[in-house]
Order: sequence, then C-alpha cells, then structure tokens
Amino acid sequence: MPTLFPATSALLITRPGYDPRLHTPVSLALRRGRWWEDPTNEDNFRFGKEGEGAGAPVEMLLTVSVHGNEQCGLRAFNALLDNGFFPASAVKRELQDEDVLGFYDELLLHRERERERTAADAGGGGAELSANLQHTPALPPPPPRGTWPFGWDTLTVVLGNPHAVPVGKRFVDVNLNRLFRKEVVQEQVGERLKNRTSGPEKRGDDQAFPKPVELALVPTLAYLISHSSAHLDVHSTSSPTPAFSIPHSAPISKAFCSGFPVDYSVQGMLDVQEGTTGCWAREVGMGVAGTVECGQHDDEETYLKAVDVIKHFLSINRPSSSPSVSCSPSPSSCGPSSPIGPLPTRQASHKILQCTSAVHCKPGFRYVSTPPPSAFAYISEGEVVARDDKGDIKCETQGGAFLIMPVAPQLVHDGEEAWVWGVEAEAQ
Ligand SMILES: [Zn+2]
Repeated sequence: MPTLFPATSALLITRPGYDPRLHTPVSLALRRGRWWEDPTNEDNFRFGKEGEGAGAPVEMLLTVSVHGNEQCGLRAFNALLDNGFFPASAVKRELQDEDVLGFYDELLLHRERERERTAADAGGGGAELSANLQHTPALPPPPPRGTWPFGWDTLTVVLGNPHAVPVGKRFVDVNLNRLFRKEVVQEQVGERLKNRTSGPEKRGDDQAFPKPVELALVPTLAYLISHSSAHLDVHSTSSPTPAFSIPHSAPISKAFCSGFPVDYSVQGMLDVQEGTTGCWAREVGMGVAGTVECGQHDDEETYLKAVDVIKHFLSINRPSSSPSVSCSPSPSSCGPSSPIGPLPTRQASHKILQCTSAVHCKPGFRYVSTPPPSAFAYISEGEVVARDDKGDIKCETQGGAFLIMPVAPQLVHDGEEAWVWGVEAEAQ
C-alpha cells in the first residue's frame, strides 16, 4: 500500500471500472454555464439533483500540508490507507510532483476531444460548446458504482508543499497559501506552458529549484482545485484551538463546511485573506470547497480530528443504502442541493461565526497577557489584546467579538494574520 509521503507527493484513487478520461465532472459543466453568469443563483445548486447533471462523475480532491508544518491531514490520510479504509479493488496511481499537472492536462485534453466528437456526432457545432450549458453534449454516463462503498469516482490526494514538509516548516520561501491569486496563477501557468512548449527537457535533480520554490507549486494545485467536484484542504493552527471549518462565500460552500464534525464554521474569513486555496475555489466557481483547521499543529487530538474530518469528506454523496450515511436522502433536509448530491446536515453543536476583520502582525507585535487569549475567546469592546510599535491593538467591535485563530507568540511572522475577529452569524 503506497504511503502518500515520502513515497509520492500525490495519489489518484479510482474506483474499479471507472476511466477518469472518459467522463466530465459536473463541476466543469457548471463552470461553463450558469455558475459563471450568476454565482449566487440558487438554481446552480439544483444541478446534479435532476436533469442534466444527474449521475455525473464525482471527482474529489484532498490537499494536505499546504503548510509544511501542518501534518495532521497527511498522517490521517496515511493511516486511512494503512488501515484498509479503501477497498482492495481501488485502483491507485502514484503521481510525482512534476507529473501531476501533465497528467491532468492530458486528461482534460482527452475530455475536450470527446466532447467535440460527441457534438459533431449529434450534428452540433463544436464552437458552441463552451458558450452555454444547453449546448453541452452529454457524454456517456459512468458505469454504475456497484458495490463501491463511496459516493465518488476518483480521489486525488496531494501533498501541498513537498519542499516544506521534510523540513517541517510552514513554507520554504513564501507562504504558498497566499499565492492563489489570479495574477500569480496566470503568470505561473504561463511559465509552465512556456517551459513545456520550448522542449521536453526536464529539470534535473542536480539543478536547484528556482526561488521562491512555492511559486512552481501554484499551477498544479490551482489546476486541480479548478477541476475537481469537491475540495477539502486540511490545516492546523499554531495555538490550541477547537476545530473549525472555513467556507467561501457561496451558499453551497457554507452548507458543505457546516457538515464537518467540528465546533465552528467561520464564514467571511476569505474576505479578509487573499490567495488561499479557498479564495481560488471561489474565484473559479468551485462551489463544494472548504478548509478545515483541525486544532494545534502537533497535538494528538488534532490528528484524530483530521481522521474524522477526512472520513466525513470521503463519505459525502455516499449511497443511501450505506449504513454509515449521515444524511437523510431527502434533498430538502440537506440544505441547498449540491452538484455532487446531498450534503450531510449541519452538525447540531456547530456554531456559525461571521468574520469581520483581520489583525496583522507588524513590527514589535506582542500579546499583552501571558498566556494570550485562547481561540474563540470573547473579547469585550475596547479590551486591549496586543501591542505593536504603533500602539495598542484592541477590540473595536461594538458589543465585543470572538478572537479566532490567534498566532502563537513564538511564531509571529510580520505581515501574516495575528488573528481574525468574528461575531455570531445572523443568518444560518
Ligand atoms: Zn495552514
């Protein structure tokens, strides 16, 4: 049984009999149609429940260790692999870091050709394909899942930052999870394409990676996020914290994130952060996407939480006959309909907070109390939490606010968030 790392930095798990090259995930069709035009339209989320998208393939993406010192997701996934969580019949393909993009590129090209061919067979014009969902020809549906115990067809698991994991650092040169911005992705994809068309030469092991090393990782991850049906990014925090999920602004992402076995969902966090994997999912209209912070980096509880969180992720859209399904099959009880089928209902104990602003570490940053306030502590209006060279940093929210994801005092990086402020969300 392959272990994700150090044996490989990416693994593709496919159910038996399913050829990923022959089918188009529903998320791709979504992005070509209504989603782009009006991302807030609830009709988007009915896709896959009835009509066009029903029975479409479901291709899952799990990213772990996008920050190299956050290894709970990596450990958890390897434990699931080692303990027979996936049936022996599952087809596994190891992908080395440099191969991932090439493989998916080939996959997408193949699918495009299939679509064009199908359109030509149907007498339609290939040129219309991308213009409107109504012109999208149907590809042959994937074969039935049979005894496959999951509600998905493929799972791609990627070690986010393979340079930083071996050295146990958040990042080597720059924070990878702030690079998923349109201009950076476009530039890096351009670089990658240029290098590919200029010749087949591959970077030798003896050649140093260009700096910053994280830039070269951006195209692959951005590409995978853009082309998955559902994405989970597993993280941990520098200070102790209850586990929480971070959706992006689409209702479907909020519904997805509120189903995880965690204490809180923090909405609006991606409005005060830039360039995270979640920001990119929002940018490309990938609705069923979210991040989960499982707890403090090296805590054993954090690892156990990551196991639960990943198991939950891999159980969504599970056949209703499965005994471990955590959702009523009735779509109306499961919040907005999802392109990948019903999402589990919200956890009863789950609190939903709305992020209002972020505090950034600036020169001279230090907390005023030892230990600093704990995660999700309620801070009164006017209470001073920290100081920097410019003066006091206090809670300015009328009526007070929750302090979310405080940075550990010994891990302060200038420019990064010290914490974010949140209040109870009004509409849940
Ligand atoms: Zn992180």
